[in-house]
Amino acid sequence: IVRLDGISKRFGKTTALHELHLSIAPGEFVTFLGPSGCGKSTTLRLLGGFEKTDSGRILLEGKDVTALPPNKRNVNMVFQDYAIFPHMTVAQNMAFGLELKGLDRAAIDRRLNEIMSFLELEPFAGRYASQLSGGQRQRVALARALAPDPALLLLDEPLGALDAKLRGQVQIELKAIQRQTHKTFFFVTHDQDEALTMSDRIVVMNAGRVEQDGTPEELYFRPATRFVAEFIGETN
Ligand code: ATP
Ligand code: MG
Repeated sequence: IVRLDGISKRFGKTTALHELHLSIAPGEFVTFLGPSGCGKSTTLRLLGGFEKTDSGRILLEGKDVTALPPNKRNVNMVFQDYAIFPHMTVAQNMAFGLELKGLDRAAIDRRLNEIMSFLELEPFAGRYASQLSGGQRQRVALARALAPDPALLLLDEPLGALDAKLRGQVQIELKAIQRQTHKTFFFVTHDQDEALTMSDRIVVMNAGRVEQDGTPEELYFRPATRFVAEFIGETN
């Protein structure tokens, strides 16, 4: 379903990605793991269409989307800083993407009810971001990204701002949502424990290159490089 065919990205003198190749089956929970600056966010931003690739191709559901803008790709993204609009209520935030998609009022209301009940957000429908806790805001951001029913969901360190306890809860929720919706999730973290517990597959990156791509078991028991062994073995 998702294929990255030798994508490269440079920012001035910095090469953020060196010819990345990757092929991901539908419905997988894939985690991009690696130190700060290794190219995780760049990879997601290229997939979402928020940056242009210098070379290579991106295929989504068999279609070449390399040159398409974000709204023409069947993809949605949740950013680290939640990115829910502060001047809109929870319901308005969620309706926004559906309006962009051109759904009529009745269809929007139906989808809102569906997704709010699925994520148990009905009690918060009329609230603004400032009236929600960090975890609730994160759920809203997730609901908003899921509402237009994208094939691929990109999550760039969505749990980064949460305290340890809440983080554990939202990890479990996120994983459950992925299982129930059978969507492909691309998740970014620099926390190896989080990656090991949540993922079907982990892509370990270092300085714009893939060090290893495999299941949590493969990475843990058979690290391909010294970098992977040290990164996975590190304690927080
Ligand atoms: P972190 O864990 O800190 O979020 P990351 O793995 O997400 O790191 P990226 O944001 O993808 O890293 O950055 C990869 C490299 O590209 C870094 O060297 C970064 O400085 C550089 N970079 C990313 N975006 C830009 C930009 N807009 N302009 C210039 N350099 C950039
Ligand atoms: Mg990043």
